[in-house]
Amino acid sequence: MIDNQWRAGGGQEWREVINPATERPVGRLAVAAKSDLDEALASAAAGFEVWRKTPAHKRAQVLRQAAQLLAGRRDEVAAKITAEMGKPIGEARIEVTMCVETFAWCAEEGMRAYGRDIPARLSNVTQRVVREPIGVVAAFTPWNFPANQAAKKIAAALAAGCAIIIKGPEEAPSACIALAEVLVDAGLPAGALNLVFGHPPMISEYLIPSPVVRKMSFTGSVPVGKHLARLAAGYMKPCTMELGGHAPVVIFDDVTVDDVVPKIVAGKYRNAGQVCISPTRFYVQETIYKRTVEAFAGAAKALRIGNGTDAATQMGPLANSRRRDAVEAIVEDAVKDGAKVAAGGRRSGNHGYFYEPTALTDVPRTARIMNDEPFGPVALFMPFGRDDEIIAQANDSLFGLAAYGFTNVPARGDMLMHELQAGMVSINHFGLGLPETPFGGIKESGYGREGGSEALEAYFVTKFVSRAA
Ligand code: NAD
Repeated sequence: MIDNQWRAGGGQEWREVINPATERPVGRLAVAAKSDLDEALASAAAGFEVWRKTPAHKRAQVLRQAAQLLAGRRDEVAAKITAEMGKPIGEARIEVTMCVETFAWCAEEGMRAYGRDIPARLSNVTQRVVREPIGVVAAFTPWNFPANQAAKKIAAALAAGCAIIIKGPEEAPSACIALAEVLVDAGLPAGALNLVFGHPPMISEYLIPSPVVRKMSFTGSVPVGKHLARLAAGYMKPCTMELGGHAPVVIFDDVTVDDVVPKIVAGKYRNAGQVCISPTRFYVQETIYKRTVEAFAGAAKALRIGNGTDAATQMGPLANSRRRDAVEAIVEDAVKDGAKVAAGGRRSGNHGYFYEPTALTDVPRTARIMNDEPFGPVALFMPFGRDDEIIAQANDSLFGLAAYGFTNVPARGDMLMHELQAGMVSINHFGLGLPETPFGGIKESGYGREGGSEALEAYFVTKFVSRAA
């Protein structure tokens, strides 16, 4: 969508979109050529001039109206998410609802983009700090939450008065298309949002260096994030980087195992583990270790895997064959290195990219799966002894996105809150990723925050104006 118009790509190239539960095509997607990107850049430059001068109240109205329209289309959009990337329909509906709330939250935050006056040294001087939209944003979003990952960037950029060119996920494009449709229907002026799909490296390498683009935002893997950050650095462009995670979960022996296990099973297998904040390394205190692993493995084996369209399905397929192959390979590697399979550990069914909910124990610290993000339905269990041993193990990772803990002892909760190295810590539940709370990582998990009152920061620049009468 360029200049609010839907169109084929200039090269007349198309790619198929595949349903991961059936391996059948569900549609075809227009691939952008460089000529399309040139037009998107020109459109965004013009759109920015219109949108930045649109009063914040009017911008908020457009975002609020878009939120309402999206709420009305929730089931239709959710069905497309399930068809294209496989998550259970209930999870897809929740995702769309989160987008509605993100649009609504950012609509209000855009009206609170306050500046300030600084007392001047001379009586005829006024000193004012204003926050201005940074300009045209190039954003790149992945397929695991095809609606929400894009909504977070689009809503915050637009609320701040920026224009945005977004490259959505080719494997699951309909959610981004739906977001663009509601915004256009809500009255977004042409050029404030342009949406393209195609060859990701070509698009990022073309858009980021363009002088029109003033900021880039990426959600995806660490290697691609590092590559894009290097590219942006060459042009001194600020980035927001939402990269991978390898979240530790510390479970102390004061908890009731039967209370905790259903929560960690649900947390692990949500979206088939294809979640950057997915709980991955489960450190369980020795006295409850065996019981916890057995209960977890039993519950994992009992999960209903199937096509996400079936309301009874608890876990769908992996989103694409590449993911299924990657999970299979990393689990095989771990088993070769000595890990034991407590549940799953193999593909499921004869068609569709299904992989069984998996739990591994005795995973050596050096196994690839302990260092690379599994990004799939795999839980790793390790016992620990004394309280003072666990923080070092939990923090022993290059990632620092999310970390979790379960305990009823306040001092243990305090220790987790203060000592875990992560951008987000959640204790006794999986309570991260709401529109009103900041989301983002430290270490190789990236920098910058989406969500919360921090959401719009990335899209502003500070201008200081000193004026003498
Ligand atoms: P990948 O690294 O190939 O791609 C990840 C995302 O980045 C995709 O949406 C892809 O289209 C995009 N991308 C890839 N190369 C790009 C480039 N040169 N320029 C712009 N965009 C580019 O991995 P994948 O197999 O699609 O996903 C698996 C890995 O990606 C996981 O291991 C996980 O670390 C990461 N991932 C993270 C998130 C997240 O929420 N942080 C979401 C999806 C994927």
